Amino acid sequence: MGWSERQAAMLAEMGVRLWLPPETAHLKGEPDGTPRPPAGRGEGAAAAAPQPAAPVVRDRAVGVEGMGWEALREAVTACRACRLCEGRRQTVFGVGHPRAHWMIVGEAPGEQEDRQGEPFVGKSGQLLDNMLRAIGLTRTEAEAAQQVYIANTLKCRPPGNRNPEPEELAQCEPFLIRQVELVKPRIILAMGRFAVQSLLRSHEPIGKLRGRVHHYQGVPLIVTYHPAYLLRNLEDKAKAWDDLCLAVQTLRATAG
Ligand code: URA
Repeated sequence: MGWSERQAAMLAEMGVRLWLPPETAHLKGEPDGTPRPPAGRGEGAAAAAPQPAAPVVRDRAVGVEGMGWEALREAVTACRACRLCEGRRQTVFGVGHPRAHWMIVGEAPGEQEDRQGEPFVGKSGQLLDNMLRAIGLTRTEAEAAQQVYIANTLKCRPPGNRNPEPEELAQCEPFLIRQVELVKPRIILAMGRFAVQSLLRSHEPIGKLRGRVHHYQGVPLIVTYHPAYLLRNLEDKAKAWDDLCLAVQTLRATAG
């Protein structure tokens, strides 16, 4: 894809500087000095070996099928299906338009999200907001076509921001499934390895899955890098921009 002046402006919004030489290594840490996530929590890495399952504290979340928003939110708040409930300050349900055209699926709450109860409010959230703004979207109140819905695969923070474990993803999955059913988005943006693992059941690296249209519950799904990964790998922001463009084109094409 070539870069028009308008696209360059949008890229600038995302923090992509086309005219600069490749970013140097010293810029690759978290800008706010926060510790990096564990080494395996990155898209560039090949799929990690399966981790041992966490002991289940109580049975998998059942009965969420058919729940409305209020009941679903209460079920998440009360959930004690895995050990993550022991360390959380609060659950992080999701935010946005209940019938948003765009649904963004991330990984799991970090420290800031655990404190504030909202997904993507830390550094990676700022980048996500910029990415959304670049294509005319927002998390703040707007029409369903502009205001996205943002949810994570996990509703509780893994301790120390470690990777989600397969059992935790499995326990939490019914909540995300129901959120997608309720929102009925026209397009899903799956950000990062664990969103992709949950939604597409794929352990392929992001680099191999991005650039084409997948489907989840019949909804077109675009795979892209997680914002936290992009903060550490600035050179991949241009690819993320291409992914956003593909999502916009896909939505336009399906709208007829
Ligand atoms: N990363 C995510 O995937 N989700 C959040 O809510 C915050 C950081």
